[in-house]
Parts: sequence; structure tokens; C-alpha cells
Amino acid sequence: MTQLVYNFAEGNMNMRDLLGGKGANLAEMTRLGLPVPQGFTLTTTACHDYQETHQLSAELLQQVDRALEQLSETSGKRFEDEQNPLLISVRSGAAISMPGMMDTILNIGLNDKTVAVLAKLTANERFAYDSYRRLLAMFGNVVYGIAEDAFDQILTDIKTQKGYQSDLDLTTEDLKTVVVEFKQIYRHSDQGEFPQKPKDQLLAAIRAVFESWDNQRARIYRRENQISEDLGTAVNVQEMVFGNAGADCGTGVAFTRNPATGENKLFGEYLQNAQGEDVVAGIRTPQSVEVLATEVPQLYDQLHTIAHTLEQHYRDMQDLEFTIEHGKMFLLQARDGKRTPAAAVKIAIDLVDEGLLSKQEAILKVKPESLTALLHPEFDSQMMAEHAVLTTGLPASPGAATGQVYFTAATAKQASDEGHRVILVRQDTSPEDIEGMIVSQAIVTSRGGMTSHAAVVARGMGATGVVGASELNVNYAKKQASVGEQVIEEGDWISVDGTTGNLYLGPIETTPATIKGDLSILLEWAKEFAKLGVYTNADTPRDFQKALEFDADGIGLTRTEHMFFKPERLLQMRRVILAKTADQRAEPLSHLLEMQQADFYEIYKLAGDKEVTIRLLDPPLHEFLPHDAAEIQEVATQIGVSVDYLTTRIDSLKESNPMLGHRGDRLAVTFPDIYQMQVKAIMTAVLRLSDEGQIVHPHIMIPLTDSQAEMGWVRKLVTDQIAEMLADRDITVDYTVGTMMEMPRACVTANQVAKESDFFSFGTNDLTQLTFGYSRDDVGSFMPEYIKKGILPADPFQTVDVEGVGELMKMAVNRGRLTKPDLPIGVCGEVGGDPASINFFEQIGVTYVSCSPFRVPVARLAAAQAHILQTAN
Ligand code: ADP
Ligand code: MG
Ligand code: MG
Repeated sequence: MTQLVYNFAEGNMNMRDLLGGKGANLAEMTRLGLPVPQGFTLTTTACHDYQETHQLSAELLQQVDRALEQLSETSGKRFEDEQNPLLISVRSGAAISMPGMMDTILNIGLNDKTVAVLAKLTANERFAYDSYRRLLAMFGNVVYGIAEDAFDQILTDIKTQKGYQSDLDLTTEDLKTVVVEFKQIYRHSDQGEFPQKPKDQLLAAIRAVFESWDNQRARIYRRENQISEDLGTAVNVQEMVFGNAGADCGTGVAFTRNPATGENKLFGEYLQNAQGEDVVAGIRTPQSVEVLATEVPQLYDQLHTIAHTLEQHYRDMQDLEFTIEHGKMFLLQARDGKRTPAAAVKIAIDLVDEGLLSKQEAILKVKPESLTALLHPEFDSQMMAEHAVLTTGLPASPGAATGQVYFTAATAKQASDEGHRVILVRQDTSPEDIEGMIVSQAIVTSRGGMTSHAAVVARGMGATGVVGASELNVNYAKKQASVGEQVIEEGDWISVDGTTGNLYLGPIETTPATIKGDLSILLEWAKEFAKLGVYTNADTPRDFQKALEFDADGIGLTRTEHMFFKPERLLQMRRVILAKTADQRAEPLSHLLEMQQADFYEIYKLAGDKEVTIRLLDPPLHEFLPHDAAEIQEVATQIGVSVDYLTTRIDSLKESNPMLGHRGDRLAVTFPDIYQMQVKAIMTAVLRLSDEGQIVHPHIMIPLTDSQAEMGWVRKLVTDQIAEMLADRDITVDYTVGTMMEMPRACVTANQVAKESDFFSFGTNDLTQLTFGYSRDDVGSFMPEYIKKGILPADPFQTVDVEGVGELMKMAVNRGRLTKPDLPIGVCGEVGGDPASINFFEQIGVTYVSCSPFRVPVARLAAAQAHILQTAN
């Protein structure tokens, strides 16, 4: 016979899967000798049985009867007894806490007869009827599905009629009337009378709680929090204690530490003369638990002692429910308390200081993702509450920003130069918009996904970003954006929340983020335990500066293309592209060389002894050319070619699939002098620094490689250029030339490619794009549906697709290391900063990840967690 029912005295905290979190902790607290009203738990196995048959099995009913019998003995009261009735609560409780998602019913066992008995036994008629009306409302709602409003309305009506301030003013007579009217509601529902027999109430309540696992809000909560559908809920049956029996009674919730700040001080709320959920439901405004300290100090001390006991025992901050019945304290629930990211960090550090946790355990207590909230400015919460959400897009880059709207990079730049705070709002962005993006507080687009250009750049710069806000109509011609009837003109103020994706009309104050002492301690520890290196993707000295503040190990990826989009460089680049011969290219290339070497010099100088990996030019050439007629006219004049010639050239560079076209090392094969120029720029900077006494080991990365032969050809181009530059110098420079692994073919042939590579670095954005065949700039139109319909578990551009893309990566790692056992292997795509992906990279033996500056602390913590878990297993 399976044991389907456990007394609180039988269970313990390790039985969460079977007894649910609430049941396991009620048992544990009983074991600790804390004052817990007694009861028993129906297991999740019983729930699974019920879900299959929609019946409470005979076996279960028998065990429930026996447990009720025992509860009668310990309590000295009897369920269904009319002289001395036992009243109970029936409470849901899954293995993973889902606060408020499922149902609970209090005061079961009351009926028309026992309510009078209770009144007499307690000499408190008001209390008895107050309890009964609560049962009627909860049972009606949970079991019969009658809307709560129906019951609330009756209470509200009486209170208004009689001019009462709160439900405490309701008299016994009022409550009796309420009870009559509540029963009336039952009669008008299709379910019929309220069941008078306590046993019927109990069984119906148990069934309802089992069924509440499947109610809509619970399902949504599970989906949001990635909780498995298979867990099921346990049911706890517990003797009632009453916080609503007079002024020396009450109910409350308490956190053993402050959940907002982490301060080590009991924090909580208390409601005198109230029951159960009144505190949470906001029926009346509760008082701080501090009132207990002045009014009934011994109770406060007791609560304080209990809090301490529980923290020592669970070794974490606890969230408690308690009830005081005629001056006696009872505990009804304990669980690990939810907390803000700032509090999570402080508590983890403090618990190590207090000797309760090891550093490793503390590191595992903080969710890496939550750190982003500590690194960006936030909206003033009070002001935000006063603003209605205009529309919501994808939360592409966290942070809070407020500013005036501009629709082009140029007008944004101009407004910023004039001292305005600017928000760039566009349908989408392209590399040309970079200058406008740099000056913007936030970037908003109406199209595109989480890895669209706007999203990647915003994250990279640490600017707030919301993309794919599809309700937003951006009309460049009219210089307007609109959401339905609401029109936003150029220069209007809006506020953007990159953490939620919400847009608001008008300005909202922000408070800047500071890296607090606790956070830096935690990150210090993380560094101690992480094995993966954490580098940054940085395209400008400004990005790199930011990443250095966040303690990046170096630069894992510098994309050189952004350096070409400043106006004077763009001009030279256009001259390179439009030249007919290599000779004609030489002159503009020499200008670019000058400018690039200055960029590299600055980055190497900032980096000091940290490593820097520079990737050579990647984008297709047509991205550098003008598109509309006016611009073509202007550029033609600038460069001294005819409009016809320019137009023809632009046409000839057009590709139907630029992403799969003439880019990356394909450019090197057709225009070798561009990469040669870049290598020259790198080496010029390196030699200049060497003269100044700084040793630099340049790492040069080749994008888009497919094969060993191709890599070999480009590698030779690079090494010949370096050899040429060192020929008449009396020094050696340690450099490496590596492959960006982003083509499936390169992964499959990694043992060959490795022969020509000093390192690999996975470009997971392109690799994902090519493995799925998803154009990453166009996924916005279908990806959300795939995720909503459960066809994709997550956006593979954000969290590595372990089964497909991950398998290719694993293959590339293993095959690459067949050729070179010590081959350094990095990951520099978007997923390089994603905690779940980092866990996978640790497992397959990646050497380092590289991510945008603001993800560096997140990745560091995730890397430490991955290594701690990996070594624990
Ligand atoms: P939730 O999971 O939504 O918090 P609970 O099962 O914890 O639901 O119960 C809701 C409220 O009822 C809580 O405030 C709890 O303390 C209170 N409560 C539950 N059982 C009892 C009981 N036996 N005696 C007094 N109050 C109870
Ligand atoms: Mg609770
Ligand atoms: Mg790429």
C-alpha cells in the first residue's frame, strides 16, 4: 500500500517533491519544536492519481480518515462533532513555491449548527459568524467557481449603507445577515446549496485544490517561471488557529531580513483581529510588526527568536506566515523569501560573514540575470506608477531612460549636440545610424527581434533598448510615431523601460546605478571560482572602458566595421569600394590605415596587459554605399564620379542574400588589400607601443571561414603582411591568427580548420542563423509564435540551442582539439553572456566567453556557478 498521507510529525524538509514545499516545511518546523498547528499532507502522488481518474481513491479516503482520527486525538476536538467541532484549513502547496497561484480554504467544518456551537464555546458570536462568512465566500469561489465579487459586493453594500470604515465595524447582526445572503448566492448559482456536512466540505475542498494545479493563472505562472507541468500539488489539512477572535489576536507575514534591501532586521506586517489572507489581499492597511515590539514585547521577542532559529536551520532568509490567537503565537508557513537583486547580493555576502554559508553556496544563491538590474539606472517607482503604459516591445537592453523623440540618427545627433536628452525611435536601425545611437539615452524600434541590429548595439553600448514594438507606427515622412490614436511628434518626451519593454508618454525621473560594495565582493568571489574566462565584445574605447570597470579579462571581439562608419572614414571607404583598380584603392586605403591604427593604438593602450582580439572586416560592401537618390548625388560629387557610374556600381554590389554573400573572408580573397591594410594598422599600433615599452600580443580573427584551404589562404595573407612589417625590425611579436567558427562546415571540419588556426571563437549569431536557416534580422515575424506554441523552448539567438547548434559546437571543440589539444576556444556571440548557455559551454570545454560590457558581471557569476556545479557532480 502506498502511503498517500503523512502527518506533519512524519515528514521533513527533504520531502518537497512528495509533500510540496509548504508541507515539507510544516513538517520540518514541527520537528524543530516550533508552534505549528498540527495536521497532515496528501502527497503529490495522490494528486497524480486524481489527475488521471478524477476520483479520490478508496485508499486515499481511508488514509485521510485515519489521519483525521489522529488529529482529533492531538487536538482534543473532533471533526464533524457538534459539541466540540474541529475546524481545519485545506491548503495547496507544490514542490516549487507559486505564491497565491492555487487555492486555500479556511474554517472548514463550520455549518449552521457548528457556527452556533463555536459562538457558545468561545463566548464570541461575532467571531463565529465572521469565520463562517469567510468559509462561505472561499468555498463558493474555490469549489463552486462563484466570482469573488459576488461576495465582496454584499460586504461593500452593507458597509456603505451603514457608513462603516472597515470590516471590523461589522456587528454580529450584520455578519449573520451576510451569512444568509451568502447562502442565497449559492442558491442562485447552478451548483446549489452550501454543503452542511463537514466531510463533504473537506472532500470537495481537496478535489478543488488538486484541480487548482490546472487553473489558468497557475499555468501562466509555471510557463513564465519554467516550472514543470508534471509536479502536481500536495494538499495540506491543518487545524485552524484564529487571528480573528478579538483584539488579542491577529495575523501577519514576516521576512527574517528586509527583502528590498537585505538589511538584517525582521521585517513584516501585522493585522490585528484578522484572518489569513487579509494581510496580502489588502483588506485593511496592516501595521509594521514593530507595533508588536511596543505593544506585546514578549510576542515580538518570540517571533524574533523563531526567525533566528529558522534562518540558522534553513541557512537563508525566510518568509513566514504567523497567527496570534489570544496572545499565543502559531507558525503557518516558512519558505525561502523572495527578494530584490540588491537584497539577494547583500544577504548572500552576510550569510558567509555569519558563517552560515560557504562562498560557493553564496555564489549559487544569486541569479546571474538579476545582476543586470543592479547595473542600470531605474525609474523612480512612485513616478512610474503614475504613468500608463503606452505600448510594450521586446526588452532588448535593460535600463531606464527618458528623453525627447527623434526619428533619424542625424536629427538625434544634432539635438544631442544642442544639449537635449535624446531617444531614437525608428522602424529599425542599420550601421549607418551608429552615431545617432551613441548619443541616445534609449533606442526604440517598431520592428526586429532580440538580436536585431538595434538590440545588439543597444546592449553593447549599455543604452536602454526596446525593439519590435509592433503597435508603434513610425512615419518618417511626417516625423511622427503613433500608437492607435496617440501621436508622438518629434521632440516629444517619452520614457523607455528596457527591462520590461514598456514605453511611457512623458518624462519619468531616473536614479543612477552604483556598483555597491557587496556586488564587487560577490564578483570577486565569482572570479575566484570561475574557470571560463570572461571577455568583452567592445567596438569603441568607450565600451571597453565600461567593460574594464566591470572587470572583463580582456576583449574577446572587436568588430572593426563600426570604425568605418564615421563620416570622414565612410568617405574613404566609399572611395575604396568605387575604385576600379588596386592602384586607385591605395590612396584611400592609406587614409583608412592612419585612422585605424590610431583606434587600435588607443584600445591596446587602454587594455594594458589584457588580451585583445581584433576581427577583420565582416560586412558586405554595399552596406557602405548610399541608398537614396539625394545621397547618391551627394556622394558622387564628393568622390568625383558620375551618378551613373555610382548607380551602376551600387547595382553590381547588390545581393539577394547579403548575409550569405560577399562578406567576411570572401572580401579578403577578392580585395586582399583591405585586410592587408587592417593588419598593417594593427602592427603599426603594436610597433608604436613596443617603442613606448608596452608589449602587445595581437590576436587577429578571421570571420566567416568555411574551410581549411580558405583559412590557410587568408592566414598567409595576414602572416606575410606581418613578416613584411617586421623584416627590417629587430624584434619579434607574438601574435595569433584564429578562426571565427560560425559556419556549420567549419565546425564539421574543425580538425582540418584547426591546422591553420591558433584559436577558435564561436560566432553563435551567424552559426545559429545558418544552422536553423533563420535570417536573424527577420525572425521577429515568426519566432514569437514558435515560442508561444512551444515549438521552440526559447529564442536560440539568446540561449544556445543545445541539441542542434550546441552539438555542432561540441563537435568543433572535440575535432579542433584532436588536431591541437590546447586550442583556446571562445564564444563571442550574443549567447556568450547568457547564464544557461554558459553552463553548457563549461560542460563542453570552452575556454572563455565574450559578451557585451554590461553582461560581463552576469557572465562572471554564471561562469562561477557553472564551475561550482560541474565540480560538485
Ligand atoms: P498561499 O499559498 O496562497 O499563501 P496558504 O495556504 O498559505 O495560501 O493560506 C492562505 C492564508 O491562510 C495564509 O495567510 C495562511 O497563514 C492562512 N492559513 C492557512 N491555514 C491556516 C490555519 N490552519 N489557521 C490559520 N490560518 C491559516
Ligand atoms: Mg501562504
Ligand atoms: Mg558573424
